[in-house]
Amino acid sequence: MILKKICMLGATSVGKTSLVARFVQSLFSEEYLTTVGVKIDKKVVATESGQVTLMVWDLAGDDDFQKLQMTYLRGAAGYLLVADGTRPASVRRAIELQGRVQAALGTVPFILALNKADLSDQWAVSELQMAQWASQGWTIRKTSARTGQGVEESFRELANKMVPI
Ligand code: GDP
Ligand code: MG
Repeated sequence: MILKKICMLGATSVGKTSLVARFVQSLFSEEYLTTVGVKIDKKVVATESGQVTLMVWDLAGDDDFQKLQMTYLRGAAGYLLVADGTRPASVRRAIELQGRVQAALGTVPFILALNKADLSDQWAVSELQMAQWASQGWTIRKTSARTGQGVEESFRELANKMVPI
């Protein structure tokens, strides 16, 4: 069985923990490793080259990258970069984080999840902006931890990027 570590990254309150909870459906059995402030969930996903066990790392509490330690990122095969599609500042933060993670880890696969897509009347990211990211090679998905939209797909797509066929 292939085992891959992925990290949840993004500003506080964008929905990282909610996306993991939606994805692993372990809402009531959360195991916090309180000493290090990291929660690790596991889920098996089917990729184009077979089953992969994702170990999803998520920071608890104050999860701003300013205080993030290299131990969180070390060994990550990919990451889900999360922004809140209703908060432009969180999108700018995600872009800034991407640069910092790239500097720390080198080039590893990631998906930019624009979360809270259910809040369509407050949506603040234009199609043009999304097209610009796509043209620079980024994979962007609209997600909603509330409705489940795009969640499974984003993790599976990330797994596919990490495991070559
Ligand atoms: P984190 O700090 O990035 O881990 O964010 P959380 O998962 O704790 O979520 C922060 C807040 O946003 C909570 O009140 C969630 O209920 C809410 N939230 C998370 N995802 C969504 C979503 O897709 N849609 C909506 N409407 N609210 C969300
Ligand atoms: Mg959280």
